[in-house]
Amino acid sequence: MTTPTGRSSAVAAIAGRTPTGQSVNFTDESPKSVFGSNTFSLAVMKEMLKPDTYASVLSTIKDGHKLGEHVADEVADAMRQWAVNKGATHYAHVFYPLTGLTAEKHDSFYDPAAAGNEAISKFKGKVLIQGEPDASSFPNGGIRATHRARGYTAWDVTSPAYLLESANGNTLCIPTSFVSWTGEALDTKTPVLKSMQALDKQARRILSLFGHKEIAYVSATAGPEQEYFLVDKTFFYARPDLQAAGRSLFGAQPPKGQEFEDHYFGVIPERVLSFMCEVDRELYKLGIPSKTRHNEVAPGQFEIAPLFESANVAADHQQLIMTVLKKVADRHGLVCILHEKPFAGVNGSGKHVNWSLGNATQGNLLDPGDTPHDNAQFLVFAGAVIRAVDKFAPLLRAVVASAGNDHRLGANEAPPAIISVYLGDQLADVFEQIKGGGATSSRQRGTLHIGVDVLPPLPKDAGDRNRTSPFAFTGNRFEFRAVGSNQTIGTALSALNTIMTESLDYVASKLEGATDLNAAIQSVLKEIIDHHGRVIFNGNGYSEEWHQEAAHRGLPNLKTSADALSAFVGHDVIEVFEKYGVLSAEELHSRYEIAVEQYIKQVNVEAKLVEEIAQTKIFPVAAAYATTLADSAAKLKAAGVVAPSATLAKVAVLVADLESEITHLKEVHAAALEIGDWTFKVLPAMASIRKTVDTLEGLLPDEAWPLPTYQEMLFIR
Ligand code: ADP
Ligand code: MG
Repeated sequence: MTTPTGRSSAVAAIAGRTPTGQSVNFTDESPKSVFGSNTFSLAVMKEMLKPDTYASVLSTIKDGHKLGEHVADEVADAMRQWAVNKGATHYAHVFYPLTGLTAEKHDSFYDPAAAGNEAISKFKGKVLIQGEPDASSFPNGGIRATHRARGYTAWDVTSPAYLLESANGNTLCIPTSFVSWTGEALDTKTPVLKSMQALDKQARRILSLFGHKEIAYVSATAGPEQEYFLVDKTFFYARPDLQAAGRSLFGAQPPKGQEFEDHYFGVIPERVLSFMCEVDRELYKLGIPSKTRHNEVAPGQFEIAPLFESANVAADHQQLIMTVLKKVADRHGLVCILHEKPFAGVNGSGKHVNWSLGNATQGNLLDPGDTPHDNAQFLVFAGAVIRAVDKFAPLLRAVVASAGNDHRLGANEAPPAIISVYLGDQLADVFEQIKGGGATSSRQRGTLHIGVDVLPPLPKDAGDRNRTSPFAFTGNRFEFRAVGSNQTIGTALSALNTIMTESLDYVASKLEGATDLNAAIQSVLKEIIDHHGRVIFNGNGYSEEWHQEAAHRGLPNLKTSADALSAFVGHDVIEVFEKYGVLSAEELHSRYEIAVEQYIKQVNVEAKLVEEIAQTKIFPVAAAYATTLADSAAKLKAAGVVAPSATLAKVAVLVADLESEITHLKEVHAAALEIGDWTFKVLPAMASIRKTVDTLEGLLPDEAWPLPTYQEMLFIR
């Protein structure tokens, strides 16, 4: 008898599926006309606001000036009108709590108790600027006792408000910061904004040194590349592990994995392309400049990347991209999986955060430019990055630490847990020359100092890419490749901005009093490279030699979250975050505690799932199969046929192993709940059960297997 598992009917359903009908038509509705149509954009404001109100809002957005208080009522009024005209019934302050998710509390524009015009006047400037959601269910890491549940949301003028559509009504969404009653940041946005402000100040000091007279607001910029998996919904709902933990906790390797790289280089499957087109359309409406889409290395894996924007807007947009991916996937009968390592044995998903800084007057400050003058300035900024990354490597490791990302970092597919900087041969060579006392052009003769008129033009394109580096220079920006696909980029960005601020401050202080600027630049760059050059590595980050070499250089190798997270509260980190007013010691402590708590919650859920699935789904079918084999062996023997069953012996042993491994996991799990050894006790116990279960998957009759297989989840869509 076969056990109906639903797997075969799921496969049949997918095979007989009628494709989702056309939902996007860029011929009749050009991307240009769609772009930003659901955002309360500058163009809309210009049209709807009085000129001086508009000017005030604009100077807040473009130059980081404080918003004039008198303008709020007028903006609120325009915003409400605009939203109501577009079918909005509610407004929501959207914020980004420390769970890494997006939170919204919806309120109606309508006041049913009021009459006539009054009924829709519930949206005044005061309501736009500040909200008060019940903060008690958002993590605060000890900042606020639950009985003091007040939290405030404050409008972030620099990030456009937008309209979120749903089948039965639209909502005006207002991006906000989320702070406690006592003023501590309870979110990921507030420190991004504060760090950008601090960075601007120090970057301008450097630019003034180079003689620039007109210097516009210097903004950190970010362009995140999001990797994700798509799995058919029918399989997803048959996998409690994918559903509750975001990753498969069991699953034998399929006969064919990613070794042919045929997925990476192949055409985008039709069903997926149709999904991607709709994602793009939804993103365009929200004013998100979606740009790149392609297959990724693992089967079933894809990538989307928007054009870079100001770091704060990019962080908000990145949260929206994740929301839109999930929502649109659902409409196509798919589930978008953002976990860093949903499937063992194939590549995991990252979110490469491309990061730079620049402004309207001097451009991208990490662009080498064509002229020697720009080169010296560029080298100062690049040198500051190198110094910052070396000095605060443990922090950069901490901001990417999570239970999910631990499975990815250091697994020879993603950058190792050792933080290093890739410069590319040419730029590395320039810094080598600086170390030797002055940069010597390869094309010209003589020793060249890093002066205004002496440095050779640097290549715009750094040439080779290095996929194994966690922090790579890619021609005009750095790419922080260690960030996980499920993480909010705000945390990484506020760290990068803050440590860069400290470095620029340091360099500016060295240069400001100098009588000979060129000599001072040469000497500060040499000092940086002498002290921090150890962080530069252009070789293969996956190799064993690098691990040895890095240890020799004294670079930290914080392999797991358990090793990494405490950097959030390191003395140097607290000092620098406090100095530049980004986060207080208490806020950093709360972040550390929440990250630890999230880690424990995740592993706890995974352990429970492993116990439950192994006990209630796998054990029964494996034990039943052992019995079936034993029965048939007995019958054959009774019939006088000698029937030694190697399979029976194997299955019987595995069934016994499985039982004792489940018992063991339950023991270490219970102990972890008391004393907390999740990383080195619970995870290995889960892994040993997985090994047994995956072996059984290769022995049991296919129709008896209760879980959709890797073959099915990764290849059938
Ligand atoms: P890759 O070749 O690394 O796959 P992609 O084209 O997928 O590159 O993504 C590169 C990302 O880097 C894009 O989001 C792009 O807009 C972004 N980027 C380009 N210039 C900058 C910059 N100055 N600051 C931040 N991000 C940038
Ligand atoms: Mg890319």
